[in-house]
Amino acid sequence: MNETLTIALAKGRIFKDALPLLAHAGIVPVDDPETSRKLILDTNQPNIKLVVIRSSDVPTYVEYGAADVGVAGKDVLMEYGGDGLYEPLDLKIACCRLMLAGPVAFKNSEARMRIATKYVATTRRYFAAQGKQVEIIKLYGSMELAPLVGLSDCIVDVVDTGNTLKANGLAPLELIANISSRLIVNKASMKMKHEVVHALIARIAEAVAAPGILPPTALTRPCAAEMKEQKRTNIAKTPK
Ligand code: AMP
Repeated sequence: MNETLTIALAKGRIFKDALPLLAHAGIVPVDDPETSRKLILDTNQPNIKLVVIRSSDVPTYVEYGAADVGVAGKDVLMEYGGDGLYEPLDLKIACCRLMLAGPVAFKNSEARMRIATKYVATTRRYFAAQGKQVEIIKLYGSMELAPLVGLSDCIVDVVDTGNTLKANGLAPLELIANISSRLIVNKASMKMKHEVVHALIARIAEAVAAPGILPPTALTRPCAAEMKEQKRTNIAKTPK
């Protein structure tokens, strides 16, 4: 591997969950992003660097070629839109669900709903597909607060255990999409750095499929259920 490669990772949960996959591909950061003030992190491989950035910035870095490869949540990719990126691999990490949520008794009725979310484009598309016009209020965080203070009727947000909703007297109402993190690749890098990018995709795909590489914390309901189902199917297929 002589070509240089920059990998963009979202801070927090995605970064932590992606580390074992990268390690399987032989890439280990030498700088700790929790303590280092460096924005470009070195790895054990001199030609591979990591940039650890806000999740919503990952597709931008990769589409414009500031990073060759990235790891981003499907929620972020759905909101980013467009076809400026390749998305070759579902990493099955940082799994959660994008949901419409609101007060327990709330019904997605005919009335024009007011919805607080940071997923403005995705929410608009979801309701447009139902032929419904909704009023969308863009927020950057703590979406669960909006219905409690009368700012909105409902929210659209990612839900993992559902504990945050429950603690605030809210309930999941409709599943918009199952979410997991995806490997994304810059279109020019896929061609120009073919060898190194393809080797990386193959190693990471191997890690995703191998048992015991992803930490149990990486797998929550939707992906865990999917993998259980896959295992059951594989067992059923195994000749006796
Ligand atoms: P929970 O209480 O486990 O349902 O978690 C909900 C809170 O965690 C919400 O504030 C979400 O924004 C956030 N969250 C849950 N899962 C993820 C994820 N995979 N990526 C980013 N944020 C998440």
